[in-house]
Amino acid sequence: MPELPEVETTRRGIETTVTGHAIAALIVRERRLRWPIAAGLEDEVAGQRIKAVGRRAKYLLIHCQRGTLILHLGMSGSLRVLESTTPVMKHDHFDVLLDSGLILRFNDPRRFGSLHWTGADPAKHKLLKSVGPEPLAREFDGAYLFRTSRGRKVALKNFLMNGHVVVGVGNIYASESLFRARLRPGRRAASLSKRDAARLARAVKAVLGKAIRVGGTTLRNYVGADGNPGYFRQKLYVYERAGRPCRVCRTKIRKVAHGQRSTYYCPECQK
Ligand SMILES: [Zn+2]
Repeated sequence: MPELPEVETTRRGIETTVTGHAIAALIVRERRLRWPIAAGLEDEVAGQRIKAVGRRAKYLLIHCQRGTLILHLGMSGSLRVLESTTPVMKHDHFDVLLDSGLILRFNDPRRFGSLHWTGADPAKHKLLKSVGPEPLAREFDGAYLFRTSRGRKVALKNFLMNGHVVVGVGNIYASESLFRARLRPGRRAASLSKRDAARLARAVKAVLGKAIRVGGTTLRNYVGADGNPGYFRQKLYVYERAGRPCRVCRTKIRKVAHGQRSTYYCPECQK
């Protein structure tokens, strides 16, 4: 599943190709994505120039002259920049045809992706208005995490994966961030001290920042879910390393279940 670093990598991958170009046409082959693509969207966007490509949480924001396309890659979606003559394959659900002759092609076998349009501020869109801060933003820091975690009995890892607390911290990045911060995933969120919270905020920024950097170096005109996600290129310390020695202290990494998800930690390094 594309995580935040993969979405950011996709954004960077398409940004230079599409910015400044006009949308000649939107060609929709399958409207039934996670939410149906609105009827008439083709007419809405045709002729509009793309001003910038942004991202909020795991949504790509294609800012046009009169509004914004809000695109989610879902579980299995990918976006590629291709020549418009490229034959259509199975699961190629829509193309954004640019005046340059290139297309932005969306492929998504599981159809959990989505495409919305808003003529207003995308931050106020129903999909985005209640999402938490970006992990790399300045507002996400130790003081914020400390304040937000007061009174929260939930396990620290689940707290970190809650998109209202912070966006984009999936299972892998939560496990790795908690290792880096030397905190047990099963601790109550409310048990964080101010120093713990500061260490955790720094760890999240470091782990996600690194994933974005390594993901961003591999792409040219092919971007998306299977375009070498950042976590495949990053040295993992605990994730899926149960029974193997900790890279820091050689203690065996443990695996426990939190909800339906597996959690990995070092019983020596993480307290
Ligand atoms: Zn260890």
